Amino acid sequence: MAMAGDRRRRLLVLVPCPYQGHLNPMLQLGAALQLTSSFSVTVAHTEFHFPNQSNHPQFDFLPTADGLSDADKSSRDFTSLLSKLNVNCKISFQESLTRLREQHKEEVTCIIYDALVYFAEEVARELKIPCVIFRTCSAANTSIYNEYPRLREEGFIPLQDSKALELVPRVHPLRFKDLPVYKFEGYEKLLQLLERSNQIGSSVAFLLNTIECLEQSPLMKLRGEYPVPFFTIGPLHKIAPPLSSSSLIEEDQSCITWLNKQAKNSTLYVSLGSVASIDEKELVEMAWGLANCEQPFLWVVRPGLVHGSDAINLLPDGFAEIVGERGRIIKWAPQQLVLAHESVGAFWSHCGWNSSLESISEGVPMICTPCFGDQRVNARYLSHVWKVGLLLEDMERGEIERAIKKLMTSEEGEIVRQRMTDLKHEVMHSIKEGGSSYNFVHELVKYINSL
Ligand code: UDP
Repeated sequence: MAMAGDRRRRLLVLVPCPYQGHLNPMLQLGAALQLTSSFSVTVAHTEFHFPNQSNHPQFDFLPTADGLSDADKSSRDFTSLLSKLNVNCKISFQESLTRLREQHKEEVTCIIYDALVYFAEEVARELKIPCVIFRTCSAANTSIYNEYPRLREEGFIPLQDSKALELVPRVHPLRFKDLPVYKFEGYEKLLQLLERSNQIGSSVAFLLNTIECLEQSPLMKLRGEYPVPFFTIGPLHKIAPPLSSSSLIEEDQSCITWLNKQAKNSTLYVSLGSVASIDEKELVEMAWGLANCEQPFLWVVRPGLVHGSDAINLLPDGFAEIVGERGRIIKWAPQQLVLAHESVGAFWSHCGWNSSLESISEGVPMICTPCFGDQRVNARYLSHVWKVGLLLEDMERGEIERAIKKLMTSEEGEIVRQRMTDLKHEVMHSIKEGGSSYNFVHELVKYINSL
């Protein structure tokens, strides 16, 4: 909303990458900037994966034709989908932006784009609009992609199984198996895309949804590598005013009523996020681990969790009867509300960056089962650096039961919980007046106003 007396509206265009874990922080960023300033915010969106616009009346929306076929949209080849988006959206984004400028007879102050949709930077450069790159993952993960050329030169790529547990030289504290792109068919193409997305082009600043106290050393490294100001403005979900849902799947609010009936800190919340998938055997092992752990649990079994099937139909016979009222299965949770609920005592997670920040912000200790990409980096930091989670790599019922009991009922688990509580206080301090993220958000507003 422009304020009375403004000489002209300051118009920001946000370009998110159309996946849940990218949409959420971009919309939170828009809301956080509006809270601190009089920016008017337009969200450019693809036809693929976009949340309900009526939930976000504070933003305008700018459709961008993405040219994706139904086969592209249902494919699990994210590299190919993102590469296509970066080619297909460029012209349509440029045209819709040009129309927007003509219709409103005003300039766009700044384009803020998700690093994975770098077509937005190419358009900004051509139209001579200032742009800012936003990486929605951690600083540690961001900085790794700059190491791959060196790892290639030094002969570490392709990565070898025999080295999996060795520390990566000069990428403390990661082992080779913690690298976000390790080895699978087609990994070189993904690596190319990620390396490309780390090139800032004409971007005048770099935004990260992280916190100085969490990632001092990777941040110092990144600041040495890019000649632009860095703004660490996380955790954005706590800085932005509470937003209406931006979930792509309907949230099951009834789980809150169920959580209200559970004892304080008794319940394990289980979710592997919006993209990760497991096979049927792993689902069955998860089910028996949960059945045997004796703790109440809330488990998100989203459509697609087991690729190609409705996972809920694959749960083992007798599981529901054994678990009874102690367990609740839903398709999608209002996750921030769940993690903030006092009955939730632990989070068994795939360690997506948003989930990690959301758990830290509520002081909920974690069981870390990374599936792919940056989840491995986050899991290493959570379990090994901040020591606020236990690593669980083997999806086997006995291992699962032991990990849950250790975190939720043992003395060792209590120490992990205490460390998570301490980390929560540090992180939440950063968003209070005078804290690092608070200051960076205000500096970012001033910076954008100066463009
Ligand atoms: N999320 C949710 N309900 C669920 C599971 C996840 O609202 O049942 C949200 C979660 O709060 C987070 C996002 O989806 O903001 C997932 O992002 P993350 O980076 O953790 O993982 P990704 O889905 O990208 O792998």
